[in-house]
Amino acid sequence: MSASTLFIGGTWTGASDGGTRDIHCPADGELVGTVAEGTADDAARAVLAARAAFDAGEWSGKSPLERGSFLLKVADRLRDRKNDFARAETLDTGKRLVESEIDIDDIANCFEYFGKLAGQESGRLVDAGSPMVVSRIEYEPVGVCSLIAPWNYPLLQAAWKIAPALAAGCSFVLKPSELTPHTSILMMDVLQELGLPDGVANLVLGDGKTVGAVLSSHPDVDLVSFTGGLETGKVIAASAAASVKKVALELGGKNPNIVFADADFDAALDNALNAAFVHSGQVCSAGARLIVEESIAEKFVDELVRRAGQIRLGGPFDPDAETGPLISAAHRDKVTAYVDKGVAEGARLRCGGAWGTGDLEKGFYYLPTVLDQVTSGMSVLVDEAFGPVVTVETFTSEAEAVKLGNDTHYGLAGAVWSQDAGKSQRVARALRHGTIWINDFHPYLPQAEWGGFGQSGVGRELGPTGLAEYQEAKHVYQNI
Ligand code: NAD
Repeated sequence: MSASTLFIGGTWTGASDGGTRDIHCPADGELVGTVAEGTADDAARAVLAARAAFDAGEWSGKSPLERGSFLLKVADRLRDRKNDFARAETLDTGKRLVESEIDIDDIANCFEYFGKLAGQESGRLVDAGSPMVVSRIEYEPVGVCSLIAPWNYPLLQAAWKIAPALAAGCSFVLKPSELTPHTSILMMDVLQELGLPDGVANLVLGDGKTVGAVLSSHPDVDLVSFTGGLETGKVIAASAAASVKKVALELGGKNPNIVFADADFDAALDNALNAAFVHSGQVCSAGARLIVEESIAEKFVDELVRRAGQIRLGGPFDPDAETGPLISAAHRDKVTAYVDKGVAEGARLRCGGAWGTGDLEKGFYYLPTVLDQVTSGMSVLVDEAFGPVVTVETFTSEAEAVKLGNDTHYGLAGAVWSQDAGKSQRVARALRHGTIWINDFHPYLPQAEWGGFGQSGVGRELGPTGLAEYQEAKHVYQNI
């Protein structure tokens, strides 16, 4: 792919200083492509292009129905080009092709959902208490949005922002992670091909400290929607505060997976493995804290450890691989240091805790890891590993399970496993997390809000609230 990979004001261009970045597949180090490395000037130019397009009104002034039907066309086009998108996602992230294919289906569904939702949109009449007053609420686009996305689900996380932003009538500048740019480039290609007016969608590739910093501070940006790590979220919120931008933050998680003794043992075990190790644990909602009722803990954890040791790691096109590499050498070092610190603090390493060997040495593989004998306050219980690491805690009462499940400053997601529906519902209510699964792990729906309590974030994506994030409510009061 050539290095004219920034999309600004409807034109493909290189970086203003000619800078480029090579992208390598984390599974084997092969060169995937060379893309433009945008500068602060490029980011500012893109914001101004988005502002000009917004003010021109060619998109923001369309009816919600027209915008909705455009999004439905995007969904169709994504389905037509699923193979290109899935392959690009897999090469950038190293994740299994089958997982990328699911991501692209989900992305198309997200566009379809917001396309239909936009079409149903209307303002609301308010009873002002007088026949001589017409009072109504209109929902208008927020304006220019900076959309900053992470590398673990690169286009999926971006799509959760792009689709509602477009549905609402906003224009935007997208900055994907510098590690995973290719599906964002393809996305702009689709939006251009389908005739989105110039400047409504802009793409600036580059790192957080240059491009991201401009996108979160530029005075012409009205809203910053960010998905990524907690510490970056704090920096972005502080930088956006100077000009009182609206901020939506989807941050990390330290998600409890609570298994009661009366759970379906096999289903809970299969899901505990999947929750912790799919995509090598690089999932914001990973089931990183297994909390098991004491009476079944020994048997459950022995089986978990045995099965974790059998998980087959491999490249994205290996049909037998069950999980893949970490995103980078730096991230693998981070996960390694995290596990080592936990062990130094007294956690017991039951399996894993090492890099992949043999053929796996070409990529950044880390073995599925189980730690037990952990106690409240240990770093492995507090911090997000964002790798294939699960800790084990035990409980003897429902109240203790809830207490452990809420023992985190995060609050993104959690699961409860029990065949007692009343108990599951009570525990689900008591847990302070944005999503609770009962007898399942990981499913989400485009029509259901996603987001975090506590330090897992601010605001919600998906669902009607996910559209409302990109709208301003205006009250028009007419005295007849
Ligand atoms: P990250 O915070 O390092 O980077 C995310 C994005 O922010 C990247 O595009 C990066 O370039 C940019 N960035 C970095 N510094 C910046 C700055 N100073 N100003 C503006 N932008 C900046 O996160 P990551 O490592 O890419 O992703 C992993 C994190 O994302 C994990 O913590 C994970 O839990 C979280 N995540 C959350 C959700 C969710 O839905 N809550 C979903 C996926 C990932």
